[in-house]
Amino acid sequence: MSSNSVSPTTRIIAVTNQKGGVGKTTTTINLAAALARKQRVLLVDLDPQGNASTGLGIEYDQRNVGTYAALMQEAEPHALAQPTEFENLSIITANNELAGAELEMIGDERREYRLRDALRALEGDYDTILIDCPPSLGLLTLNALVASDSVLVPLQCEFFALEGISQLVRTIDRVRRAFNADLHLEGIVLTMYDRRNNLSELVAQDARGFFGEQVLETLIPRNIRISEAQSHGSPVLNYDARSTGAVAYLALADELLKRNENRTKA
Ligand code: ADP
Ligand code: MG
Repeated sequence: MSSNSVSPTTRIIAVTNQKGGVGKTTTTINLAAALARKQRVLLVDLDPQGNASTGLGIEYDQRNVGTYAALMQEAEPHALAQPTEFENLSIITANNELAGAELEMIGDERREYRLRDALRALEGDYDTILIDCPPSLGLLTLNALVASDSVLVPLQCEFFALEGISQLVRTIDRVRRAFNADLHLEGIVLTMYDRRNNLSELVAQDARGFFGEQVLETLIPRNIRISEAQSHGSPVLNYDARSTGAVAYLALADELLKRNENRTKA
């Protein structure tokens, strides 16, 4: 049990990689939906682009003040979590104002702890909270890392996949020393894996050589149904449950649950 956790039963996972387009949002949405088959799940959209909110079918005019208000402490966190049309899956949405949040917080006290404070208020309401981070290591991502028990890092099976990862690992170390001693690496998940492309296998080998068991066994394949589902405002599981993408995200959820069980037993 981590002392930072909002409750012994609520796990908070930041989905982070400062590179854009590596599958953070896709992983957050689809892992959330897969976990929601068994648990109460909250997704926190911390990217001003709001792709996770859109990907779960929440149109702009349906969004409340969301993550921005949570960071600015302008609203009670319970009032910010909105149900989605998917069972057991709620969201705190990103709206346009979130883009200005980093600048607005810059001189504030406890600016690194804003999200943590907000999520603590939701203690016990959810089994897992997943945070979709923006593609940077700025103050928003820092808030996510301070609020979380662990970090899940999507790694796209492409050229330069590992580039920038050492910087991310250093950032996690720094956060651990300065703000959140219990933060750990949940794992690295390989995304957009293409069996027909040798490069995918090379990246996978590289990552496993470098990070060993921290690389999760589940490979997320490149699958058109995943991106189609997103454009329909739906997790792939609720769009085409038999697609390779849906099956992979279910496997990822199971793998994480099992690893967590083993970790808490240990
Ligand atoms: P990030 O949040 O890291 O910027 P996204 O999750 O938005 O990355 O993914 C970038 C793009 O790649 C999106 O258009 C998404 O639909 C697509 N994509 C992500 N994962 C897959 C996948 N496994 N198969 C096919 N397309 C994918
Ligand atoms: Mg994204």
